[in-house]
Amino acid sequence: MSSSGLDVIDLRSDTLSLPTSEMLSAMAHAELGDDGRDVSGKGEDPTVNRLEEVAARRLGKEDALFVPSGTMGNMIALMVHAPRGSSIVVDNEAHVYRMEKGNFVEGLHGFKPVFVPARKGFYDLDVLDRFLSCGHVSLVCIENTHNFAGGAVLSPEQTEAISDICARHEVPLHLDGARVFHAAAALGVNAPDLVRRVDSVMVCLSKGLCAPVGSMLAGTRDFIRSARGKRKLLGGQMRQVGVLAAAGIVALEKMTLRVQDDNVLARMLAESLADVDYFDIDIGTVQTNMVRVTLKTQLTAEQFASRLCDEYRVKVGPVSQDMFRMVVYNGISKMDIESAAGRIKSFCNAL
Ligand SMILES: *Cc1c(COP(=O)(O)O)cnc(C)c1O
Repeated sequence: MSSSGLDVIDLRSDTLSLPTSEMLSAMAHAELGDDGRDVSGKGEDPTVNRLEEVAARRLGKEDALFVPSGTMGNMIALMVHAPRGSSIVVDNEAHVYRMEKGNFVEGLHGFKPVFVPARKGFYDLDVLDRFLSCGHVSLVCIENTHNFAGGAVLSPEQTEAISDICARHEVPLHLDGARVFHAAAALGVNAPDLVRRVDSVMVCLSKGLCAPVGSMLAGTRDFIRSARGKRKLLGGQMRQVGVLAAAGIVALEKMTLRVQDDNVLARMLAESLADVDYFDIDIGTVQTNMVRVTLKTQLTAEQFASRLCDEYRVKVGPVSQDMFRMVVYNGISKMDIESAAGRIKSFCNAL
């Protein structure tokens, strides 16, 4: 099969999303200052300060902090909530554990992971309660949407059930909400209603919200004050970073309003591939902008992805030996999805 003439459709990740023209224009015209020069808990860059206000408001939290990456945002949250070397409840599929290993490295923060069994990111509540009763756990982490569960969501009720147990044992709860606006849209709730019961939340501006760089960490005023100190310690304090924050404001004010479009297209993609013999797709997990596929062929996910790209110009993201994912983001149209589904089917038929 000749692939010449076909456009590449790149579904590896929503980190591939590009800043919109509105973002680029806002970046070019942003009012700037030195964000590293601290005046009573805020820097001197007016655009960063505005972004932090907008983020706090959009998440229903007292204050927020702009950080260079989601990884740093989560790390700062762990450092603020949990003393060095203490035990943190995570699920073993959590991004904070699987991909951000720095948190659990002996010589760095040395946090000890405590694994509580979870289904699509929702903990077994009895086990969670029992583990927290022991008094050794300093923080509980959850993830919404859940990346390795194929973008599955936790509802406000599920979050509340976990939060109730944390509150009873006086253990703080941190949410890795890299894609929390996709979760809120899928659930038909406002983001503040989804994150009300967590003590801190990290949100990525740079994924489905299309900003080129950056994430937000939100929580109480006290939490954010401590977080600023940790950010500086990690080298995450930046200078005229309003140039990036300007894009972040557009991300939070405008791009959050369209994320349900991505969720709908991902569902469409999953449904059109549901009858492919070589695929196992748990349609129940296709709640947001991701489709995770388990392969039932001799090909590894890497081999499958590489041949699909060479022969049909569709890029998918391997996540394990036999699984890959496809992620929808701004710039991937309904026509792209229809075309990608058609190409993937043709490729599989020829296998
Ligand atoms: C991407 C991601 C992060 C980390 O964000 P970076 O900006 O890539 O460091 C954290 N948690 C989840 C669930 C993610 O998908």
